Amino acid sequence: MNLIFLGPPGAGKGTVAQRITDDLNIVQISTGDLLRGAVKEGTELGMKAKKYMDNGQLVPDELVIGLLKDRIAKEDCQNGFILDGFPRTIPQAEALDTSDVKIDKVINFNVPDELVIHRITGRRICRECNAVYNIYPDCDPNPTEEGKCDKCGGELLQREDDNEEVVKKRLVQYKEQTEPLIGFYKEKGILADVKADNPLDEIVEDTKKAISG
Ligand code: AMP
Repeated sequence: MNLIFLGPPGAGKGTVAQRITDDLNIVQISTGDLLRGAVKEGTELGMKAKKYMDNGQLVPDELVIGLLKDRIAKEDCQNGFILDGFPRTIPQAEALDTSDVKIDKVINFNVPDELVIHRITGRRICRECNAVYNIYPDCDPNPTEEGKCDKCGGELLQREDDNEEVVKKRLVQYKEQTEPLIGFYKEKGILADVKADNPLDEIVEDTKKAISG
């Protein structure tokens, strides 16, 4: 099964994907994680991408599309995947359409802007395994031990672009360039909405229902 998780930053796409991939026996593909990996490794692509990412802008389509296609071609994607953060523009969606990949369902996570900003400023990511946490008591999951990943013990870090100033730019960019994808996939009859301002367990359950419904 091949799925797309659509929604603004902080909607819970990555967190929910991490909770359901094992059950579905599919992999999560986050273009943000792939790009951050390239930045960390100091590859040519990473160096080109960094200036856009730090500034809350989208990395140019031609760079991201190539990265995604290479990732999808890997062995572990054969049983299916969740695309988390791709496509983010109409040309990216069209590139997916013209590839051999068939998308079964697109889950659209709906969340108000104020909650996005709150969640994003409290978000922390494991530097080893990319697991997502939140330090605010009203946002889950909180790490059991401060600054440490529950899954692998890795150090939890705040992403450079997870600050209020950059997230506001990312929200503007989302509305301008990514939101049109809602109509694009609605027309294809494969879009399902999920209310993403509920507690995490409810969002996970609603997502599972939306996938099987
Ligand atoms: P994310 O981890 O999904 O929030 O992505 C972090 C940043 O990586 C974004 O703000 C963009 O700069 C870049 N990025 C991730 N996915 C894409 C994409 N599909 N197209 C363009 N840029 C992307």
